[in-house]
Amino acid sequence: MLSEAKPMAAKSERTIIRGGTVVTAGTDGVGVLRDHTIDIVNGVIVSFGPEPLRVPGENVEVVEAREHIVIPGLVNTHQHLYQSITRAMAPVQDAELFHWLGMLYTRWRHLNYEVVRLAASVSLAEMLLSGCTTTSDHFYMVPRGSDVRHEAVIEAADAIGMRIHLCRGSMTVGESGGGLPPDDCTEDEDAVLADCVRMLDAWHDPDPLAMRRIDLAPCSPFNVSPELFRDTRDLARERGVLLHTHAAETMDEERYCLDRFGLRPIPFFERHGWLGEDVYLAHCVCLNDDDIRLLAASRTGIAHCPCSNMRLGSGVAPIAKLLAAGAKVGIAVDGGSSNDGGNVLAEARQAMLLQRVVGGAGAMTTAKAFELATVGGAAVLNRPKLGRIAVGMAADIAMFRKDDIALAGAAAQDPLGALILCHAPRADRVLVGGRTVVQDGRLVTADEHKLAAELNRVVLDGGYR
Ligand SMILES: [Zn+2]
Repeated sequence: MLSEAKPMAAKSERTIIRGGTVVTAGTDGVGVLRDHTIDIVNGVIVSFGPEPLRVPGENVEVVEAREHIVIPGLVNTHQHLYQSITRAMAPVQDAELFHWLGMLYTRWRHLNYEVVRLAASVSLAEMLLSGCTTTSDHFYMVPRGSDVRHEAVIEAADAIGMRIHLCRGSMTVGESGGGLPPDDCTEDEDAVLADCVRMLDAWHDPDPLAMRRIDLAPCSPFNVSPELFRDTRDLARERGVLLHTHAAETMDEERYCLDRFGLRPIPFFERHGWLGEDVYLAHCVCLNDDDIRLLAASRTGIAHCPCSNMRLGSGVAPIAKLLAAGAKVGIAVDGGSSNDGGNVLAEARQAMLLQRVVGGAGAMTTAKAFELATVGGAAVLNRPKLGRIAVGMAADIAMFRKDDIALAGAAAQDPLGALILCHAPRADRVLVGGRTVVQDGRLVTADEHKLAAELNRVVLDGGYR
């Protein structure tokens, strides 16, 4: 079903990106560095500075960047890549979370391996073209009796060349047990834990520059038991991997947790040992001041999804307050069924604008929004080698043309402000680990139009409307 990928361009061990206007976080915060050159060897930045580099020998690819704004590859901290299959689905365009989920489960129960791989490929393609080079993917939908496996997402990410944190998600409490999903959309808890072990053994790479990591990620308190949260926590800590889930997304979730567990969501997670530097939580919209203190003090990561929160009418996450308290925050687009777009720069812009709606024009700067989409996300995923352009960092880089109409005028005013305040342009070139995956605004590793056409066909023919 998936289109044949085009063969990769021959890999050059050394790439020099010459003379770009670089926007990156440094030790003094986010800055703009003009006429800077980046030297990349074997996927790592080995030198970075204003000096003109001599280009010795052969097998060196030189990329002229004088007409580009060059940034570190963007980091996305929460996605459901398969959800492009139900993007903009008419019956749930105006629904709130629980109603939205109730309708979507009836479509997602038909998923199979090929559809997950295709839908994930489409989401990954869209994100790469926007300059995002690393994404987390929270995949929790394994219908009973289906051939769906998490490998479908791994296959898609490998083929397209994107760095991924694949979250082995799960749902185990169905309607008969008081949960939200239909029973045929849930798995047995023993099978989930066994498959988490299998996934970690087969696919997790602890290397600081790893292209693929496995995180463990029960879906949410309203479709997973407290026992599975605890067992998953123990397994993750034994193996030294990250924990991820949805938390405090809506008031419906808060009421569910109070009714069922006698605790609001953040105290629920505290009770079950689910706060800490190795945990990151999506949403965190419905927080009180105690929650904010707990999240900040425990260094729990927060994946902020402003478009999804607006689309579902969930509320405004108190990001400015969280940041003031010292919390670790990254940007996330969330899945295609509640955002309908996978553009991390656009999401950073929405994050900034949404904080300004409630906190005034000074509530979030363009520099802070940029930081959340780069180093902030890298911190949430515990990836210190990602999110900045500096010596020793992974060569994950996105380049935008200054003469892109979306940036015209703004690029000359302020390259950083242009990227965050203007409508996000398409990346002209993207490198992941030093490998060019987008060139001249086109994917090198896949045919985006074929992918899109195939997805449209499957939506029409496969019962996903
Ligand atoms: Zn989500």
